Amino acid sequence: MRFTPTTDQLDIRKAVKEFAEKEFTKEIALECDKTELFPYKLHKMAAELGFIGIHFPEQYGGGGFGTLENCLYVEEICRVDSGLGIALSLSDLASELIINHGSEEQKQKYLPKVASGDFISAVALTEPEHGSDITEMDTTAIAVKSGDEWEINGCKTLISNVSIAGFYIVLCQTIKEVSPTYRGQSLIIVDADTEGLEYSLFKDKLGCRASPTGELSFCNVHVPEENLLGILNKGFYHTLNFFNQSRVEIAAQGVGIAQGAFERAFNYAKERKAFGKPIITGFQAISHKLADMSIKIEAARLLTHKAAWLVDQGQPDPAISSMAKTNAGRVAVEVADEAIQVLGGAGYLAENEVERFYRDAKIIEIYEGTREIQKNTIVRFLLKRGIKN
Ligand SMILES: Cc1cc2nc3c(=O)[nH]c(=O)nc-3n(C[C@H](O)[C@H](O)[C@H](O)COP(=O)(O)OP(=O)(O)OC[C@H]3O[C@@H](n4cnc5c(N)ncnc54)[C@H](O)[C@@H]3O)c2cc1C
Repeated sequence: MRFTPTTDQLDIRKAVKEFAEKEFTKEIALECDKTELFPYKLHKMAAELGFIGIHFPEQYGGGGFGTLENCLYVEEICRVDSGLGIALSLSDLASELIINHGSEEQKQKYLPKVASGDFISAVALTEPEHGSDITEMDTTAIAVKSGDEWEINGCKTLISNVSIAGFYIVLCQTIKEVSPTYRGQSLIIVDADTEGLEYSLFKDKLGCRASPTGELSFCNVHVPEENLLGILNKGFYHTLNFFNQSRVEIAAQGVGIAQGAFERAFNYAKERKAFGKPIITGFQAISHKLADMSIKIEAARLLTHKAAWLVDQGQPDPAISSMAKTNAGRVAVEVADEAIQVLGGAGYLAENEVERFYRDAKIIEIYEGTREIQKNTIVRFLLKRGIKN
C-alpha cells in the first residue's frame, strides 16, 4: 500500500492549481454565481490545457489518465472555487457512458469534441415522477420506420447543462410491458439540435449556479437507430455501472469544496484578532474547529482516492463509491458551515466566499443519488458480501 502520488499526479495537481488560481478570479466567481451564467471562457481554457477529458483515452482526444487523476483535477478546481469548479467538472458529465459502452463511431463523434471543449455533455435520467427511483421511466423510445429510427416522447427534469449541451444521453423505456420494468430501459444519444427537443431553465437555485439546470421535453423526437448507446434494454445496468465512477467524481467535488472552505477559514483565523488575541491561537474553541475540519477532509480525501483507485483497477466497488460520495458530501456541508462560523459575520457576506461554498456543498448530497439512496446501496452490498473489509 502506497500513499505517494506519482510524478504525473503531482504535475497534474500543480498545473491545475496554477491555472485555477490565476484564472478563477473572485470577480468572475461572484459574477457567475449572481448571473447564473456558465463560465465558457474558463471552460475553453481548461479544455485547451487538457483538463477536460483528462481521463478519456488518448485516441479520443483525452489525456489517457484515470479516474484518480480526474479526481485530482476536480478537487483542485473546486478548492479554488466551488461554483466555477462544479460547472467545469460537470461539463463532460456522463461521457464515461460513451467510453464504456459506445460504438467506435459514437466515441469518435462525441469524445474528441467534449475533450476539446466544443461540446458539453449531459445525462438525462430524472423525470418529474421518477427521481431516486429510476427503475421505471415515463419517457419512451419506440422503434419506427422499420426500426431505422427511435421516436422519443416524454420529459426529463433537473438536468445539468440542459441549455449548453451539444448532446444528451437519455434513459428511456424501450419496452413498457416487462417485469421488472428496468429490464426494458435503454440509453439513447440525442443531439441538441434535434427537432422536437425543447428545454427550459430553473432560475434562482440555492447553489451550483454557474451550472445551468432545467427541464428537457421530447415531442416526437426522431433519432437514427445507431444512437442507441450500449446494449438494447440494458440501459439501467449501464447507468448503475456509470454511478460507480461518477459518484467518485462527485465525492472529489465535495473534498475540494471542503478544502477550499477550510483554507479560507484557516487564513482568516490567523489574521483575525478578538480580545487582543489572534482567534486561531487565542481560543481553543476556534483552533479545535479547524483541527476537526482538517481531520474530516483528510479522511474524505483518502476514501475518495481509494474509490477512484478501485475504479482504475477495473474493480469499481458500488459500496465504496457510495461511501465516498456520502461522506464527502456531509464533510463539505459541515466544513463549509464551520468555515462561516470561524469568519463570524464576515462569513455571511458573498465577498468572503465561504457562504458560496456552503450553498454549493449541499448539491453533493443530492445529485447522482441522494445520501439516503447511497446508504441503501451501501447496506445492500454489505448484506451481499458480508461486513468485513
Ligand atoms: C442542481 C441539480 C442538478 C442535477 N443534475 C441532474 C442531471 O444532470 N441528470 C439527472 O438525471 N438528474 C439530475 N439531478 C436530479 C437528481 O439526481 C435528483 O434530484 C435526485 O436523484 C433525487 O431525486 P428527486 O429529486 O426526485 O427526489 P425524490 O426521489 O423525490 O426523493 C425525495 C426524498 O425522499 C428520499 N427517498 C426517496 N427514495 C428513497 C428510498 N428508497 N430510501 C430512502 N429515502 C428515499 C430521498 O433521499 C429524498 O430525501 C439534478 C438535481 C439537482 C438539484
